Amino acid sequence: MSSPNAGSFDAKRQHEVVAALNAFMPQGSVLFNEEDTRPYECDGLAAYRQLPMIVALPSNEAQVAAVLRTCHEMGVPIVPRGAGTGLSGGAMPVANGVVLSTARLNKIIKLDPFARTAVVQPGVRNIAISEAAAAHKLYYAPDPSSQIACTIGGNVAENSGGVHCLKYGLTVHNVMRVRMVTIEGEFVELGSEALDAPGLDLLSVFVGSEGMLGIVTEVTVRLIPKPQLARVIMASFDDVVKGGNAVASIIAAGIIPAGLEMMDKTSSRMVEPFVRAGYDIEAEAILLCESDGNPEEVEEEISRMVDVLQSSGATAIAVSGNEAERLKFWSGRKNAFPAAGRISPDYYCMDGTIPRKRLAEVLLGIEKMEAKYGLRCANVFHAGDGNLHPLILFDANQEGEFHRAELFGEEILELCVEVGGTITGEHGVGLEKINTMCVQFSRPEMDAFVAVKHAFDPSSLLNPTKVIPTLQRCAEHGKMHVKHGQMKFPDLPRF
Ligand SMILES: Cc1cc2nc3c(=O)[nH]c(=O)nc-3n(C[C@H](O)[C@H](O)[C@H](O)COP(=O)(O)OP(=O)(O)OC[C@H]3O[C@@H](n4cnc5c(N)ncnc54)[C@H](O)[C@@H]3O)c2cc1C
Repeated sequence: MSSPNAGSFDAKRQHEVVAALNAFMPQGSVLFNEEDTRPYECDGLAAYRQLPMIVALPSNEAQVAAVLRTCHEMGVPIVPRGAGTGLSGGAMPVANGVVLSTARLNKIIKLDPFARTAVVQPGVRNIAISEAAAAHKLYYAPDPSSQIACTIGGNVAENSGGVHCLKYGLTVHNVMRVRMVTIEGEFVELGSEALDAPGLDLLSVFVGSEGMLGIVTEVTVRLIPKPQLARVIMASFDDVVKGGNAVASIIAAGIIPAGLEMMDKTSSRMVEPFVRAGYDIEAEAILLCESDGNPEEVEEEISRMVDVLQSSGATAIAVSGNEAERLKFWSGRKNAFPAAGRISPDYYCMDGTIPRKRLAEVLLGIEKMEAKYGLRCANVFHAGDGNLHPLILFDANQEGEFHRAELFGEEILELCVEVGGTITGEHGVGLEKINTMCVQFSRPEMDAFVAVKHAFDPSSLLNPTKVIPTLQRCAEHGKMHVKHGQMKFPDLPRF
């Protein structure tokens, strides 16, 4: 072994594990030199980094199972990794651990236009499924903004959402079957290609389990027909409260738009010079409300939404007249994260979900926090789902700014819990939100999560130290869910 990895791990241990993996893995698929492993040290939450001891690149299911079996026997932790676009540190390596990348498991195995399903390997990119299905006028509905890069394995692990999920459901509603490998190297099938599967619904337990229960090796997804027509309304508001209330009013009117997104003034000013989407940069808030279906349905729904928006106080309304204009209106929203780089050296993207009717109140709360922490925040989010994505803007080169950004983010999540929401909508808990888990859940609830984890992974080798905080961690963090013996929101379902 040449040029050992410069990480903080034990070189002897690294040598042993590399030798054990090289016994069955093809040449070039076990990386251990620093120049090869460095690209895997973080995911999209680049503020947190850890050089992995080893990176394994299996090309088939048998190799995945063998890597897992070997690591299990040797007591080596494993972190699964798709494209590494996750924003909560879920794919960040653990010290003395192996990163198992699914980059080489990237084939669409079968596409059945009659059953309207596709069977894909975990490393297939989200958008590649819709591109392959387009020839049959079908597509895969969940559309994270990272869809050109993120993988279906990562989407399953995070239960990812996107603009279209308000109407068509999250990943969990569009995945029918998952084939996965346990830490012991055993293959397990969850769900089925029929509408229902016998026994407990373990597929729903698995989707969103953030790589802690097993490695996804094959996924059957549901495809749906591409709508004949889609049009989008762009509405301006001179007040975020009015914009937030308009979102609640659209849903209250019984309309489920194909997309219902909101951007505040900081976001539209950040993105408009970048993509020229035609956004009203004087508006305090912009709503994008999409309708899809056949032309008659779209016309009727657009007209109903325009009525609601007008009576909610919209100051300007534009409706896309053709597909090019629709895509132009969306281009600003879709490019909001990269556009943040134009006005700030760094940004920290939070992800929390709140009841829609509390949107305006929470946005005002965030505005007050901007003053408290001395940092700007751009709000761009899946308003219809109540899923906020505050982008906290900071400069990591300025001492203390990242720490203030972390505290700012934490306070936003606490406010989400305070108003009856949750600390994550679609980006997962990973490492980023492990402390705020202590605010959201009581110890008995977290013990139940641990019990589920141990049922799949008794030795706690799969993505350890993520998602579920220890009691000690919560005590140190000083945030416990049960306050004065009273559970907040005792009426809400706890799992
Ligand atoms: C610009 C940008 C926009 C984004 N927009 C959205 C959005 O609109 N909606 C949204 O939901 N998310 C969004 N994200 C977050 C991210 O893209 C999603 O969480 C995505 O699902 C991650 O997929 P990935 O392949 O990159 O997974 P990774 O980041 O590699 O991994 C994510 C998690 O999945 C686990 N994992 C990966 N593959 C497997 C597997 N085969 N088996 C078991 N566990 C596995 C990892 O251990 C980790 O815990 C965005 C990210 C960026 C950078």
